[in-house]
Amino acid sequence: MSTIRCDIVTVERQVYSDEVDMVVAPGIMGTLGILPKHAPLITALEEGELRLKKGEEEESFAVSGGYMEVRPDRVIIMAGTAEQADEIDEARAEAARQRAEQFLKEKPPDMDRAAIEGALRRSRVRLKVARKRRRRRTLPQERIQE
Ligand code: ATP
Repeated sequence: MSTIRCDIVTVERQVYSDEVDMVVAPGIMGTLGILPKHAPLITALEEGELRLKKGEEEESFAVSGGYMEVRPDRVIIMAGTAEQADEIDEARAEAARQRAEQFLKEKPPDMDRAAIEGALRRSRVRLKVARKRRRRRTLPQERIQE
């Protein structure tokens, strides 16, 4: 089976670079599944989970929007921010979520609503990706205990 090279970059760093079987990305018009030899396209991404499938393995990332360029042999994701599931500090994301929710509830007069809503969406995606990863990691042990 052929593979497709996937690069995830942010202004800060190269987050990922490897050959994968499939890229599943949060496009602004919906989830996009990209296989090798896909037709070229450029699309905007929204905050969401990005999944890379590699054989039986799956890597999961939280991305905060950006752009994706697809070529038949290559996918380049330029994200605002991107963290692999393992890298996500869950307590930090939870604190960010609570902070954003508190702001939206209190509505201080100088509040930048769009910025707070963006922070809320980023924190929710980070929590979802981190918790899914944690569940997957603890699953084999739970099975043993059964
Ligand atoms: P916070 O309020 O916790 O800083 P934020 O949504 O404002 O969250 P961003 O501006 O999106 O943070 O990201 C700033 C940098 O911090 C980026 O490099 C991003 O990858 C990283 N980052 C943000 N939140 C987390 C997290 N929970 N775990 C790991 N890295 C994070």
